[in-house]
Amino acid sequence: MLVKNEAIKGGYKVVSKDKRLLVDNGCTSWRIVVGRDASPSEKHAADELQHFIKEISGVCIPVVDDACQIEENEIILGNNSHLQQLGIDVDWAKLGDEGFIIKTVENKLVIAGGRLRGTIYGVYTFLEEYLGCRWLSSKVSYIPKRKVIEIPDIDDEQIPVLEYREPYYFDAFDGDWAVRNKCNSSFARLEEKHGKKLKYSRYFVHTFNKLVPVEEYFDTHPEYFSEVDGKRISERTQLCLTNEDVFRIALERLREWIENEPDATIFSVSQNDWYNPCQCEKCREIDEREGSHSGTLLYFVNRIAEEIEKDYPDKYIDTLAYQYTRKPPKYVRPRKNVIIRLCSIECCFSHPLEECNAISYPFYYRMSRKEIENYTSFAQDLHEWSKITDRLYVWDYVTNFANYIMPFPNFHVLQPNIKFMIRNNVKGIFEEGNYAKGGKGEFAELRAYVLAKLLWNPDYDVDLAIDEFLTGYYGNAAAPIRRYIDMLHKKVVDENIHMGIYDPPVNRYLSKDIMKKAEELFDRAEALADNEEILERVRIARLPIEYVRLATMPLDTPGRDKMIEDFFAKLTEVGITEVREARNLKTSEQAMKEGRLYL
Ligand SMILES: [Zn+2]
Ligand SMILES: [Zn+2]
Repeated sequence: MLVKNEAIKGGYKVVSKDKRLLVDNGCTSWRIVVGRDASPSEKHAADELQHFIKEISGVCIPVVDDACQIEENEIILGNNSHLQQLGIDVDWAKLGDEGFIIKTVENKLVIAGGRLRGTIYGVYTFLEEYLGCRWLSSKVSYIPKRKVIEIPDIDDEQIPVLEYREPYYFDAFDGDWAVRNKCNSSFARLEEKHGKKLKYSRYFVHTFNKLVPVEEYFDTHPEYFSEVDGKRISERTQLCLTNEDVFRIALERLREWIENEPDATIFSVSQNDWYNPCQCEKCREIDEREGSHSGTLLYFVNRIAEEIEKDYPDKYIDTLAYQYTRKPPKYVRPRKNVIIRLCSIECCFSHPLEECNAISYPFYYRMSRKEIENYTSFAQDLHEWSKITDRLYVWDYVTNFANYIMPFPNFHVLQPNIKFMIRNNVKGIFEEGNYAKGGKGEFAELRAYVLAKLLWNPDYDVDLAIDEFLTGYYGNAAAPIRRYIDMLHKKVVDENIHMGIYDPPVNRYLSKDIMKKAEELFDRAEALADNEEILERVRIARLPIEYVRLATMPLDTPGRDKMIEDFFAKLTEVGITEVREARNLKTSEQAMKEGRLYL
């Protein structure tokens, strides 16, 4: 049963039979017990539990260690002597590093899981699901106020289905936010007290040129690099993956990386961020036999991984199945210490990946007729990869990268896509969003929040997550903003509109009619804003509508330049640093003035 809370839709679970009064009008007879040898995150979990219960009720529950006698009313955190005295069976192996149980045993509450992060995740889950706390963004939380806290009968066990969960948004890099929302993101500032994270090496992706730099080797050894149409190329090149020297140099450098970054567990050996795979005779022979350029890639990555495993059996080698290597090979199989990161960059994101085979702008225009004819859907490629590896991650895309602050109505596909991936044995998901410094792109914080919920629990109620966020974040202005979100989503669904991540701001779903209604809804939201702070949040949420209006305004509109300048000044004022990936605001401002909307 879910008790509706007045201040926030959703609320908290209550299934109470016996009364366990944790807090009763300013008093408590309870204490929090943590092991003397508890892990850093378990100790931090005790402090966080104490902190948030105090924020809810004003009551500070003492934290004690397990050397003291077991007493009547205790919250027992982690595996310690008090837990052992209770004599309950906990399957620690099954819980792993991140799983936990939350369980009432008479007048005790047990929250215990993996020492690394399990117990601390259990504490946040208790605060969230049973006491009603929500950590919406790094700066905005909803913590209910209650004079009485009862602990209901609880028998909960949660083990994440995904070993890697990363919503890649600027705000989500906050360590406290990430751990409270159970993300183990490589980019989040997750410290020891948070239970650390899944750590990629700092050379996160596109590492060919870092492993064998073209600047260092091309002049003396052009044969190390891609042969394209009979010539070795130095511009936008890849590596010749069948060259023995390339293998030796890359392996040597990778060993240095591992030595220099001992706490990282995943190291990337992956293609540069463009095309031009090597077509030399040896490479071509492998790729033709394998039916994909992923043939030479895996041949190379497997050899590296085999050598690395001898000295570093706990490290993983990660590579991309991206663009020209997206299609899996026919015969070669990834070694067990190889992670395949499959990327959905070309896809449509207004339809679930399983249901739409559209190739989005600008990829379609860059492909030859033959490539288009042979195009296999992302869903099919994913399905095929899932059959040949147990270590499949997905690099998914969840915002518009050519226009970070353009409306991107994709909330309805997030869940079906994540579920589809999980059904196909995907173990990690990187959801690339607006990671630019400052954040605040189109609903960036809302997106990070909803994604965090889904990555932990793919069955999470998305509508509830959106509503809870909007209510906590926009207060009285939440309702018109929800209508605005619904209106855009209804438009793309009803009219079957495709949507890619580099679309210009002239898509059909941004019709005059929709834009007019959007303005009205934001007028209403601004009028309803509870205070200046919330009004500012509403205005930031409105920027995408203004962005579309300015971007599509006829060039000869009087005062157009001034309007664009004012708009970009506003972006700077609120801390937005990019409206397009890796491009500064000045350059984007100039492009908009000149009416350049496309890549
Ligand atoms: Zn080659
Ligand atoms: Zn589509």
